[in-house]
Amino acid sequence: MPDRKPSKGEKGGTVTREHGFATRAIHAGQKPDPSTGAVMPPIYQTSTYVQEAVGRHKGYEYARTHNPTRAALEACVASLEGVEHGIAFASGTAAIHAILTLLQAGDEVVAGENLYGGTHRLFEQVLRRFGLKFRYVDARDGREVAAAIGPATRMLYVETPSNPLMRLTDLSEMGGIARRAGCLFVVDNTFMTPYLQQPFEHGADLVVHSTTKFLNGHSDMVGGIVLARDAELEGRLRFLQNSVGAVPGPLDCWLALRGLKTLPIRMERTESNARRLAAFLAAHPKVEAVHYPGLPDFAQRELAVRQMKGFGGVISLELADGEAGRRFLKSLEVFQLAESLGGVESLCSHPGEMTHAAVPAAERERMGLMDRLVRLSVGIEDADDLEADLERALAAL
Ligand SMILES: *Cc1c(COP(=O)(O)O)cnc(C)c1O
Repeated sequence: MPDRKPSKGEKGGTVTREHGFATRAIHAGQKPDPSTGAVMPPIYQTSTYVQEAVGRHKGYEYARTHNPTRAALEACVASLEGVEHGIAFASGTAAIHAILTLLQAGDEVVAGENLYGGTHRLFEQVLRRFGLKFRYVDARDGREVAAAIGPATRMLYVETPSNPLMRLTDLSEMGGIARRAGCLFVVDNTFMTPYLQQPFEHGADLVVHSTTKFLNGHSDMVGGIVLARDAELEGRLRFLQNSVGAVPGPLDCWLALRGLKTLPIRMERTESNARRLAAFLAAHPKVEAVHYPGLPDFAQRELAVRQMKGFGGVISLELADGEAGRRFLKSLEVFQLAESLGGVESLCSHPGEMTHAAVPAAERERMGLMDRLVRLSVGIEDADDLEADLERALAAL
């Protein structure tokens, strides 16, 4: 069992890894402000810190390098993922960029296809110019992944479930493949959150989140975070965080910290709503297919049950054609047409033209990202209202 003393990643807090998830979500990395007793960590809205004498300071010199509100967020998410180290960034994309800049020109990355559209754009339109090479595989197939790894491969990068088709990757199998190949295993855990999926238990070296989504959960900030177990990797990422400077502001860190406090109850409500809506959609004659890991006939049901503690709040569905999809999206009222996911409010989108518009059409086709696909991010409203909204929009088709 883990030791009792607070880990380094939880410095300042009194909560240890032995406390339950909900307790850590509320307290990890946080303690009452010593000067006032304020229960909530202050928003340290400052760019610098006064020094008593040259070189005599309290560990804080300049706010790109250190900020106490940011440190609290980093410690809290690290605790939830079950590791020591968190390194926060200005967005999920900046966090992913930092991970990739651990590599050198000439290095190769094997990545699951069906990545978040912005990640694909970062890999293909930015990082490729700096000499990194990317190879995309169907990460449902361990043999295909193992076969794609070559002598220059330094990283295996996956998202599970994939966005928006909800295809699952077996994290333990990938962890084994990465370990045997001696490459870093990176998991984007944005869709599941640490409440529902713990990639470090399956051999991940780094976990990344867009905190913009479920972790903050209120659609009022943009942020990202990388989690690491290994101190050497943490040191290199900390160096990149400071050297590149894509750091989050203290107010955004504070908002994410506040959002985290309700993560468990939000995820439970989101999921119970999503399960009910997925079942409703699957039984509806105007819906051709529903992709949701919580459905009893989900193709990778066994893996879903083994690897995930729940099935999350994102559902994608196929209608008769692209035209039907557009009409459906237009007639929804409670579900609002917007990019993003993971907030308390329900959103709907057309991945082909919205979140994945940066992916070239031919590539989208190959990935199975057809025009008739619609994505729902289920919020925590009343399930009756959400179901009625879907029913009305489907009846109008
Ligand atoms: C949104 C998202 C990102 C990018 O995060 P930003 O905060 O928008 O930069 C990365 N991965 C996944 C799975 C996402 O949903």
